[in-house]
Amino acid sequence: MSEPRTVAVVGAGLAGAKTVEALRAEGHDGRIILFGDELYRPYERPALSKGYLQGNDARGSVFVHPEDWYAEHDVDLRLGVEVTGLDRHAHELMTHDGEPVRYDRLVLATGAAPRRLRLPCADLPGVHYLRTLDDSDALRAVFRPGTNVVVVGAGWIGLETAAAARGAGATVTVLESAELPLLRVLGPRMAQVFAGLHRENGVDLRLGVTVSAFRGGPSAVTGVELGDGSVVAADAVVVGVGASPNVDLARSAGLDVDDGVLVDASLRSSDSRIFAVGDVANAQHPVLGRRIRVEHWANALHQPEVVARSVLGRDAVYDRLPYFFTDQYDLGMEYVGHADADDEVVVRGDLDARAFVALWVRDGRVVAGMNVNVWDVTDRIRDIILAGQSADTFELPAPSA
Ligand SMILES: Cc1cc2nc3c(=O)[nH]c(=O)nc-3n(C[C@H](O)[C@H](O)[C@H](O)COP(=O)(O)OP(=O)(O)OC[C@H]3O[C@@H](n4cnc5c(N)ncnc54)[C@H](O)[C@@H]3O)c2cc1C
Repeated sequence: MSEPRTVAVVGAGLAGAKTVEALRAEGHDGRIILFGDELYRPYERPALSKGYLQGNDARGSVFVHPEDWYAEHDVDLRLGVEVTGLDRHAHELMTHDGEPVRYDRLVLATGAAPRRLRLPCADLPGVHYLRTLDDSDALRAVFRPGTNVVVVGAGWIGLETAAAARGAGATVTVLESAELPLLRVLGPRMAQVFAGLHRENGVDLRLGVTVSAFRGGPSAVTGVELGDGSVVAADAVVVGVGASPNVDLARSAGLDVDDGVLVDASLRSSDSRIFAVGDVANAQHPVLGRRIRVEHWANALHQPEVVARSVLGRDAVYDRLPYFFTDQYDLGMEYVGHADADDEVVVRGDLDARAFVALWVRDGRVVAGMNVNVWDVTDRIRDIILAGQSADTFELPAPSA
């Protein structure tokens, strides 16, 4: 296929921004249009539940590119514009305002959206979700000493938000239906580490509970009702119960969709002119030997190099192992690979002091590793996973003097 003239990218998050950057870096000199339904130029989300939420990171630090970058690179950035329709036969995108936009190649970088709780009074003011800069600003305004913050869901976002609220001096209750936080991702032994961390930092962590409704008046939420009828007082509620990929556009256009837009290892969808990248892409992974949809920063950062090459008709395959990180209180962690919660866990280091490396092992081979307050080991863990080696081949680095 000849090189495309117009590449349209829908979704101006990290994956969309890095895609247009990679297209120019690969030498594409045709037209590039980047649509984003938010009002801000592309920004990175991790700080929204950490440094930015805590008031430590400046607002300017979250943006992917300086403001002038898009014009300087001849990228037609259309902010505040939702793409509402996709006509695959005419190769056109529809928006509420303006003429249809023709594309030669299309990249879907529409990301994910928080799962909403459909419960009585779930729309009361004071019931928050956390995905956007505006969401983070709204939480910053209510995280104050003495405020009762109730977090629904002890996943990554819920726990990071709980840590930020504690840091601001709020009284924090976390409600989780599972027996432990992060149980499905980390398995019971590692999940226990995070339960201990939050309890030691003063969080009232209530496990195995269900939320049945919210309480309050027209102007504000005042409480969260549990399945047993009891009510937890709340001045603010943060719901963090997972995210769903934004697939409406893809689905209505008839693309293959199943927990994300289905793409091959080159990130090409069931339509050869259309690609998907970042949180919305459910991609065949050559190393893992299965499809995987990864909702993490590193994936949105690195997949764009591959999608840009694929769009331009060059060979490229995305085969990086999934990687993510979190920061909560004084715990910093990185995780690489992909384990199931019931894989065997081998620990090197001091679990009680929360300075250790955990390795998940399946059939004698390391499939994932997590370093907690131990640094510069991720490359080594990645090498061990890729070489199919056992946990014995990993040694903790000597503590630095
Ligand atoms: C609070 C928070 C903290 C996080 N912390 C971490 C972390 O510590 N570590 C980590 O690895 N990952 C973290 N993540 C995950 C990481 O931020 C995501 O994986 C990453 O943002 C995915 O980027 P993306 O560009 O694929 O999607 P998104 O960031 O969701 O961007 C997609 C954009 O497309 C827009 N869009 C959607 N549909 C349309 C349409 N039809 N028309 C126009 N625009 C549209 C959306 O509004 C959005 O702006 C965090 C996420 C959040 C929300």
